[in-house]
Amino acid sequence: MNVAFRAAKEYELTQVQPLIDDLLQPISHLMMAGKTAVLKVNLLMKAAPERAITTHPVVVEAVANHLIDRGMNVIIADSPGGPFIAPVLDSIYRASGLAGVAERTGAELNHDLSSSETLLDGAEKLHRFEILNVVKQADLVINLPKCKTHGMMTYTGAVKNLFGVIPGLTKANHHFRLPSRLDFGDHLVDIAEFVQADFHLMDGIVGMEGDGPSGGQLIQSGFLAASLSPHHLDRAVCQLIGIEEKLVPTLLAAIRRGFLNEQTQVIGDTLRVKPFVLPKSAPVTFLPSWVPEGLHHRLAKAIRSKPDFLHKKCIGCAKCAEICPAQVITMNQDRRPECDYDNCISCFCCHEICPVKAIEIKQSFLGSLLKK
Ligand code: SF4
Ligand code: SF4
Repeated sequence: MNVAFRAAKEYELTQVQPLIDDLLQPISHLMMAGKTAVLKVNLLMKAAPERAITTHPVVVEAVANHLIDRGMNVIIADSPGGPFIAPVLDSIYRASGLAGVAERTGAELNHDLSSSETLLDGAEKLHRFEILNVVKQADLVINLPKCKTHGMMTYTGAVKNLFGVIPGLTKANHHFRLPSRLDFGDHLVDIAEFVQADFHLMDGIVGMEGDGPSGGQLIQSGFLAASLSPHHLDRAVCQLIGIEEKLVPTLLAAIRRGFLNEQTQVIGDTLRVKPFVLPKSAPVTFLPSWVPEGLHHRLAKAIRSKPDFLHKKCIGCAKCAEICPAQVITMNQDRRPECDYDNCISCFCCHEICPVKAIEIKQSFLGSLLKK
């Protein structure tokens, strides 16, 4: 399976457009006038493009231009991290620069908040849940992930981005029912297999390393990458940015289930990217041989990273309490979050949604010792 890379240093439409026109060639036969294409962007939260949290508007604009030139209707869609309601969506569209993309290109910003129950017969984990109708009804789905690290999944790319087809806060229920990273990785693969997006094109011009997907540092990774397969795209990108497969649950699930049996063929520009700094929550992948097997489960729990709430930075918005799948965050009298750590499942949804980086990832002492 081919994964194509193009070097891209800046978000300049004149430079990005020809690269995207070239990368989209493998699906030119699917671009039919009058049909509708959905661009599944990453709109995690209300954030300006320079923060590298969301898919950059220049990338979205170039894809929209390409499809609209071929007579397609284009809808830009995602279900962000918080509540899936029109005022929140509109503020995110404006902040992320996608409202401007819609104005300039004629693409539509999705306002269809409806979803319908989906039964995944062959799914390994959850079988029945809601998926956005706008994605289900599209003639063509193009997945436009952003290249970032991720507190729970180590890396977020093509497969993880498709979790955004689950509406709003119902995502928390998925986390709560599947607290283990490996189970959740399997579930993300199930969702990606259901959606069967036609193409995956990653914005890696500026990525995020460290404690992503919203609280990390920017990194000039300088690439665009594309493939017909989300699994092969993620594998090739992880190799490029120095993240080992064994640390990424979605890749482990794809390997186990045979989606990566075929060889990944990297084509296009040859790139060198400085290895991404991993999130502090990146897992310990082995335990020392002297630890008795009966203690593995307890030890694994003891070495898990946990969120650390920085009350001085906190603005009391309560978004973390609202999103917490395990409902272990309460707001105290001073409108600051307090966490019941015994029941925290280390999903880092709170860390991901905090608008002011007031939640850090705290490694346990034992976990940091074992990583060393
Ligand atoms: S920690 Fe962040 S998300 Fe939680 S209340 Fe404070 S500012 Fe809001
Ligand atoms: S406190 Fe944060 S990391 Fe723990 S379960 Fe709640 S959202 Fe997840």
